[in-house]
Order: sequence, then C-alpha cells, then structure tokens
Amino acid sequence: EIHEECLLDLIIIECVIKSVEKNLKNRNMMKFFIVMAMLLASSVASAENKQITSPDGKLVVTVADMDGRPSYSVSYDNVLFLKPSPLGMIANIGDFSSGMSLEKNVSTNKIDETYELASIKKSKVHYVANEAVFSFTQQGKTIYDVIFRISNNDVAFKYKMYPQGETLSCVVKQEVTGFVFPDGTTTFLCPQSKPMGGFARTSPSYETSYTADDVAGKNGWGEGYTFPCLFRNGDNGWVLVSETGVNGGYCASRLLGHKGGVYTIGFPQEGEANGNGTVSPGIALPGETPWRTITVGKTLAPIVETTVPFDVVKPLYPAKGEYTYGRGSWSWIIGMDGSTNYKEQLRYIDFSAAMGYQSVLVDALWDKQIGRDKIEELAKYGKDKGVALYLWYNSNGYWNDAPQTPRSIMDNAIARRKEMKWMQSIGIRGIKVDFFGGDKQMTMQLYEDILSDANEYGLLVIFHGCTLPRGWERMYPNFASSEAVLASENLHFSQGSCDNEAFNATLHPFIRNTVGSMDFGGSALNKYYNADNAPRGSRRVTSDVYALATAVLFQSPVQHFALAPNNLTDAPSWAIDFMKEVPTTWDEVRFIDGYPGKYVILARRHGDKWYIAGVNAQKETLKLKVNLPMFSNGEKVRLFSDDKALQGGVKQIEIGKKQELQLAIPCNGGVLITK
Ligand code: CA
Repeated sequence: EIHEECLLDLIIIECVIKSVEKNLKNRNMMKFFIVMAMLLASSVASAENKQITSPDGKLVVTVADMDGRPSYSVSYDNVLFLKPSPLGMIANIGDFSSGMSLEKNVSTNKIDETYELASIKKSKVHYVANEAVFSFTQQGKTIYDVIFRISNNDVAFKYKMYPQGETLSCVVKQEVTGFVFPDGTTTFLCPQSKPMGGFARTSPSYETSYTADDVAGKNGWGEGYTFPCLFRNGDNGWVLVSETGVNGGYCASRLLGHKGGVYTIGFPQEGEANGNGTVSPGIALPGETPWRTITVGKTLAPIVETTVPFDVVKPLYPAKGEYTYGRGSWSWIIGMDGSTNYKEQLRYIDFSAAMGYQSVLVDALWDKQIGRDKIEELAKYGKDKGVALYLWYNSNGYWNDAPQTPRSIMDNAIARRKEMKWMQSIGIRGIKVDFFGGDKQMTMQLYEDILSDANEYGLLVIFHGCTLPRGWERMYPNFASSEAVLASENLHFSQGSCDNEAFNATLHPFIRNTVGSMDFGGSALNKYYNADNAPRGSRRVTSDVYALATAVLFQSPVQHFALAPNNLTDAPSWAIDFMKEVPTTWDEVRFIDGYPGKYVILARRHGDKWYIAGVNAQKETLKLKVNLPMFSNGEKVRLFSDDKALQGGVKQIEIGKKQELQLAIPCNGGVLITK
C-alpha cells in the first residue's frame, strides 16, 4: 500500500519507509523493511541516468527512469534546485507515466541562433543552448522523446509523441510532468480562479492577486496557480517556472500544488467556456506538447533578463507588413463606458497628438455610442494628426455574459474577417479583444485564429480578460500585448487596489511581465480616477515619479497610458515632459536590485539611452547604493526622485568615478535616472 503523496515522490525508499512507519510498530520488522527498501533502491539505481549541461556547465539536468518512472532533476552550480521530478503522461492510448525505459542513445545538438524581435525586452537575442533528445520506450516501443534545451540559466523541455502502430492521434488525459522543490523553498504565486465567475462570468482571466514569500505545498484557491510561478530556494537562488509555444495545438496549462513542495502540470478546468470543449488536449501523431521552462539564478538577474519564452519558439507566419508600436491614450480608464463617445474620442485624439503619441484606444460600446460611420470620421481625423485608432471587441460566443459590444464578431471567422477588412480600409491600427473563456485547446485555437486573421488585414492585436501570452510575440508577428494581470482598471474600481499598487508593481518585473508583454494601461497622473480629477472615487497613493518609473518598469511595445487631457495642465511639467519622451520598445534590460513584493530597480536601454527605474512598496524609505556602469565618470544625468511627502522633482546630477549613486525611495515612491 503506497501513500498518495508517494505517487509523486520519486525517491522510492522514502515511500517504502513511510508505508512501513504507518503499518508497523515492531522495530525489528521496521529494520527488516528498511533493509529491503535499500536493496530495492540500489537495484533501481542501476537504471539509466543521463545528464545534460548548459554551455557554461553550471546548469545540469539529470534525466532518469528509476522504477520505470521518467524523471528529471535540475541543479545549478552544484546546488539542487529541482529534486527528481516526474515526467510523462497518461493518454487515451496508454499510461506513459510508468513502465517506461530511457533509451541508451541520447542525440545531442548545439544550438547557436540570433534573432531580432522589436516587441520584447531585448531587440537582438543570441541564444546558445545544448539540446538533448531523450527517448522513452514502453514494452520495446518508442512512445515519446523528451527534448531538453539548456542555456546558461534556462531549461526548456517538451514531449514529442510518436504514432503507435496505426494510431495517428491521441488525447492527453493527464500530464504527470512536475516540479519538486527542495525543502524550505518559498513561493510567489498567483492563484487560478474558478471558471465562469467574476464580472459577467468572465473568469479565469489571470487577474487574481499574488501571495509573496509563502510556504510551498498549498494549491491557491483550490485550482492551482497561473503561470509564471516564482520560487525562492532560500539564499541559494530563484526559479521561475512557465510555459511557452502554446498555440491551437494544445491547451494552456496551470500549476497544481501538492504537499511537500510538489507542483504538477494541470489542464484547464471543466467549467471554462461555459463547460464547452474538452480539457484534454488532442494531438496528431507525431506531435508535440508546448515547452515548459525553468529559469534558474543565484540572483534575480536571470529571471528579469530571460528570453527563453521566445528563444525556443518560431514565427508561425510572416508579418503582413511592418507593424507600428508606440504610445497612446484611452479615455475609458478615467471616464469608463460613458466616455466612448465621439466628442471625447476627438478630445483624446488631440491629446495623443499633443503628447506625440501614435494612437488612441477606443474602448467598449463604440459601435453603439459612436457608430461605424463616425468611427471612420475619427480614423480620418486621427490620421491627419498621426494618431491611429485601436478598436475594442468582446471575444464572446457563448462563454461570457458581458453585455459590452461589439459582440459575436471575433468568435466567428466570417464576421471577423469582414470586420477586419473594414478596419483595414479605414486605417485602424489594431484591435483589443476582451473577455476570453479560459485555457482550453479550442480557446487557444480562437486566439490563434484571431491573430492570423488580423495579420491578413495588417492589424495588431491586444488581448484583455485573457490568458498569459506564451511566446506569442515571436510566434505571431502582429501580437502586441496581453493584459493577464490585475491591471490599471482595478485601480479605478477599488481603493484596495490603489493601496496595493506598489506591492504589485514590485512583482511584475520578476513574474508576469518577464515572460511576456503586459498591457497594464497605467502611469496615471490624475490624483483621482475620475474625469474631473476631483476628490472622489479611488485615490492614487503612489507618486508622480512612481507613475513615470512604471512606464519603464512595465514592458509592452504598445502602451495606452492612463493619462488624461487635463494632465497637460494639472500635472507637473517635468512629469508630462517625461511621458512625452518615454519609449515603449527596448534593446536591453538589466536587473539592478530588488525583491519581489518589496522593491525593484532595473535598467532598460533604448538605442544608446539608458533608463533606470525603481519603485518601493515597503513602509520604510528604501536607502541603497546602486552601481550604474552604463553611465560614465563625469556624465550628466537627470534624477527624478521623491521627497518624504512623495513630492517629486527632477535635478541634474553628475556621475562620479565609482559610477555609483545613493538612492532614497519612500514608500509608494519611485526613482528614474536617464540622460
Ligand atoms: Ca481585465
């Protein structure tokens, strides 16, 4: 009789001892069983056990088939970061999680690629990795390969399933793929919400709040966690687990938590999309699963700087043309649904033009409150001022009750393509599609279909109320950004979100935003989230410098900032001037300092200009010395900072010989340094 937790625990000796402890009180019998268990362990230890290392040799993955159960473990610089963790799956054509043998021959391959991608954190990436293909057999037949790629701080792996005789398709009922963390590992996780809940039954949409520095072994709100998931292995370092390369060929997954620091891949929930569609991904054989990724670092630098979500995927179609990213404004964040009217959109086009911005996002209900004819007029008015429009759509078919229109266009290829043709004819820049129905394979197919159709008509795509983008910047050249975060709308909706704004901002650069563009829609300079900027509704508790800093901290190639036309006159001129100059595309990112949930300081480079940005969520003023080797001795830079009362300002300072700077960031304040 084996304990339930032992099914996931690959150290067989521990399982046997636990069973013995429970069932036997006789000490001599206990000793006998321990000896038996050790014999058993030594016999299975002779099974296949193979290693692959990163190019620098520090990151080591060990793949084994002990007791017929495929597993892998991960160590970095001789420290174990993942204990032997299960591999395998249970499909409708067989249980491929046990009774498996690892083939002796492992084919290896060196990968050395460069690629350019303007829409992510780093414009030019040099990806160097070692690839190894581990084949697993069952009763002499090859069932699947596990393909591992190890770069200096990243592990990526996926399964390639083979046909079985005449069987050329299968349905994966369950993956046993897991991540077993050492004792004492702590967690920084975002729970998956239950399906068909929240506003108009639109969940899950990756909009729950994180718990930082928590113990391992929980399971969120009973439904696991959304990717990416951050873990801290004490003072040894950090691990970020995520997935990439998810398209219509599989579902998107979550992480289920179990006792003892064990996390396993979980498929979508039955109830998603109103219960329609299977939770079990189907694959044609031969066929592949998405990549699962593990980023490991002694510090948080490899987590902040990783490009693994993009390194292991490929463009799925060529870009129709050259896409224009950039900055814009949107009336909805301050003015809500009522602001989607012709007059207000004219005012926002003028505002975007005054800011030197490239777009205006026209949010929900434009079809009813403005109408298509007037949208054409707005598009023409904007075009003359260099401001293009994005139009909002409800994704819905049958999976939400959100009344916001336009409805029933984006879920239907005929209506969608007709609409997109019209948009192309009047020069619309892109679409924002909201309120998706979860992570099932059919929903991932919808995302892909919207993206590929939009590309045909030269439209950029932003998703809201949606899943995490998993490598999509590279896979779909017209993908711009996704929400998949408790974004700026919550600042409007509740004071609690405003009070937690800085806490959340110190998490995103390490978790959500490090694996994909994040459409946060923030950097408000209004004191209050209403059109008069008058003392009612929710109040912003963060400083103006904080607002500027998050424009750099949060990465998205298209940013619709939560600025309002009144900010041209009621915000400090240094703040508005900075918001006029801040870029949205980046050539490089560097982690400088921080701790998720407490504070973050990072540097981004656009061309030859560096922007160092930081915010602090801790009650005490953060005082620290930072090294800024990107500036040279004697170089004059601007320092935007706050005083204790969160009154911001900018001054010019000169970088000294040591290239160091002493910073002080009050709670809810920020810092920004640039030439
Ligand atoms: Ca939302």
